[in-house]
Amino acid sequence: MTDSKPLIELFSLKGRKAVITGGASGIGRAIAERFAEAGADLVLVDVNEVGMAEVARTLSGKFGVNVSAKKVDLMKKPEIDNLWKELETLPPDILVNNAGIYEFKDFLEVDEAFLERTLSVNLKSAFYMCQHFIRTRGEKGGVIVNVSSIESVLHLVKGLIHYGVSKIGLVAMTRALAREYGEKGFRVNAVMPGGIHTPGTDKVRNEAIKKLRIGFFITGLQFISRVPLKRLGEPDEVAKVVLFLATDMASYVNGAVITVDGGFLTD
Ligand code: NAD
Repeated sequence: MTDSKPLIELFSLKGRKAVITGGASGIGRAIAERFAEAGADLVLVDVNEVGMAEVARTLSGKFGVNVSAKKVDLMKKPEIDNLWKELETLPPDILVNNAGIYEFKDFLEVDEAFLERTLSVNLKSAFYMCQHFIRTRGEKGGVIVNVSSIESVLHLVKGLIHYGVSKIGLVAMTRALAREYGEKGFRVNAVMPGGIHTPGTDKVRNEAIKKLRIGFFITGLQFISRVPLKRLGEPDEVAKVVLFLATDMASYVNGAVITVDGGFLTD
């Protein structure tokens, strides 16, 4: 079946509602902006209330869409369950699991609480969000985009083994859900960003400066020299790919994992 809609309609999200986790900052914020520009109403989910309020104000003012902000700690399943009780009456059409943390710790120093925190925010929350989304949408189907990382397939930064483990879980879930729920009308895809300049990565860099972690800067330089495009990416460069996956432009894309890494993984 071919889609005869004009390009502008294929890229439109008018009349659709999207839930974006981690929408207060960085890549999540950029996704929110592109989705709002495409006409989607948004539900931002984050722990950062101040950040969400600013994003909601800016985007509703600029694009005239409805943006609500829900403070949810994605480490806590009961908070995720409550969120979906609130969303039940007007369920979203699109879910973007973007929230994530990348705290550095040597493999041998990772204890149970630390590992649990990383897995909870980066993987388990996305698992529960997908469960709720698929249950709520039922036979209507919907679109899910998960934000993984190149770190899940090529370990390059020391102190992030736990992070890679959480992010490869997202890839497994993406592909499995695409297979199981495709026939119900769900499309499930993932993006795999490389090094992207965000408030989150700024924080990591500033901590490295404070602690004089020279190795971190050497890895950073090696990283950029290996990227064929010779630079870090911008949040909007990930957001544009997520927008593509969320729209009818990607109507036959299901179970895909798209790298957005300036070509890093070609090496
Ligand atoms: P960021 O730190 O700038 O933003 C992350 C957002 O997630 C923040 O608004 C934060 O408040 C929110 N968040 C964190 N913990 C939360 C929790 N427990 N509950 C609810 N919200 C929570 O990060 P970013 O760099 O924009 O990264 C976004 C996603 O992209 C993450 O999943 C990250 O792993 C992934 N990613 C980033 C890069 C990169 O280089 N920046 C590369 C690959 C993948």
